Amino acid sequence: MNILILGGTGEARSLARLASDEPGLTVMSSLAGRVGAPVLPDGQVRVGGFGGVDGLRTWLRDNEIDAIVDATHPFAAAITANAVAAAAAEQLPLVVLRRPGWRERPGDLWRRVPDLHAAAGALGAAGRRVFLTVGRQGVAAFADRADCHFLIRAIDAPAPPLPERHEILLARGPFSLDDEMLLLTGHRIDVLVTKDSGGPLTEAKLTAARTVGVPVVMVDRPPLPAGVVSVATPFEAMEWVRAQRPKIAGSRSNQSRTARS
Ligand code: NAP
Repeated sequence: MNILILGGTGEARSLARLASDEPGLTVMSSLAGRVGAPVLPDGQVRVGGFGGVDGLRTWLRDNEIDAIVDATHPFAAAITANAVAAAAAEQLPLVVLRRPGWRERPGDLWRRVPDLHAAAGALGAAGRRVFLTVGRQGVAAFADRADCHFLIRAIDAPAPPLPERHEILLARGPFSLDDEMLLLTGHRIDVLVTKDSGGPLTEAKLTAARTVGVPVVMVDRPPLPAGVVSVATPFEAMEWVRAQRPKIAGSRSNQSRTARS
């Protein structure tokens, strides 16, 4: 059985590790190729876009993929939409592995907004010092906020357009609570902006914000396409993969009967 894991997340790497230990399973992970030095998953890896839904369909056929786990980041909506469309067209089973979002706790000062542009409009008064942790590709939405100062943290440097007053901090999580508190206080941060990525690796900034009383603008996740099956952990995704095996064996024997007749 050949499975494709659409990756780029820690959960995708955990699943690749689990699946690589499973007898009779060939695992191919796919990365978009966005970051300079990605952490590579176990098993086979391919890098780069497929060329939209049609390109993905061709790739799935060429590589005789039997099932797809979309373990991409909760904000990677385009690849998820493509994967769902391609799986439906190729009649392949697909599951989305999506870590749960973050939950507001007592003491948090969160404002939820639907997207990055709404976040740019929700920073509050001019002159505020903003800690921006929305990923390299999200920074452009804040380019018009020349009235605020931005501390931008990303794995790789963001490309222009950037807000006029900014400082860039290149770093990859996980981050410790102590370091996050030092960063918020040392840079005199007035507001933290983050996407609701969920997961423990970058959660310390939220605890730090709660502790030092910094408000948070939290960008909501894009919704999943209708009718898609989703699971929350790599273990659940692995269970889903195992459950596909008899169905796939059945459909393969039907295909070979049809080919013979
Ligand atoms: P996106 O907007 O949903 O996808 C844009 C295009 O990039 C897709 O149409 C596809 O190109 C290609 N692509 C995306 N993920 C791919 C993958 N795993 N394998 C092969 N091609 C892929 O994606 P994004 O938000 O730019 O994220 C890119 C990658 O970074 C994803 O793998 C995601 O898991 C990871 N990531 C994203 C974020 C985030 O905040 N968005 C954060 C952390 C990690 P084609 O149409 O040519 O196939």
